[in-house]
Amino acid sequence: MKTRIGFYPGSFDPVTYGHLDIIARAARLVDHLVLGAGVHYGKPGLLAPDVRLALLKDAATPLAAKAGVKLTLITFDGLAVDAARKAGAGLIIRGLRDASDFDYEVQMGQMNAAMDPTIETVFLAAGPGTRMIASSLVKQIAAMGGDISAFVPDQSAAAIRQAIAERA
Ligand code: ADP
Repeated sequence: MKTRIGFYPGSFDPVTYGHLDIIARAARLVDHLVLGAGVHYGKPGLLAPDVRLALLKDAATPLAAKAGVKLTLITFDGLAVDAARKAGAGLIIRGLRDASDFDYEVQMGQMNAAMDPTIETVFLAAGPGTRMIASSLVKQIAAMGGDISAFVPDQSAAAIRQAIAERA
């Protein structure tokens, strides 16, 4: 049988419990999950790409092991659809939190389908316990001294606190 490869792209700046919910569920749909941390040169983000990737790897590895799927992590700097094709993925996985995610993600999925009709985008509705989590808000809360332990793994929280302290 053909190996089903799924590609889940994102900024993962940093990885949150929302992303991890999608990763755990996506791992049940594929044989091989490829996680891609997008690098935008015009939009550097808070954490360096290698730090984002290391946090993602540590958090996702036990989830992939539990589901019994192969896990690969990459950074990419172009179109997600190109990175998916390069990874051999037939599926792009995206999470949907609310109506604004829906509008943006469906449009993006359709444009990706126009660019490569062989790659299907699969949307997973955010889990009820993690739906409100956004990396951008986590960073804002941390910058204002708030507790972010309910939203991100401890290692992500420590990396965010360190990056914010270095910026100050
Ligand atoms: P963010 O939008 O928080 O900066 P990313 O750019 O890393 O996150 O998002 C990558 C993908 O993960 C997108 O499809 C996004 O909708 C999804 N995602 C982000 N946060 C969540 C969450 N809390 N629950 C489900 N999906 C999420």
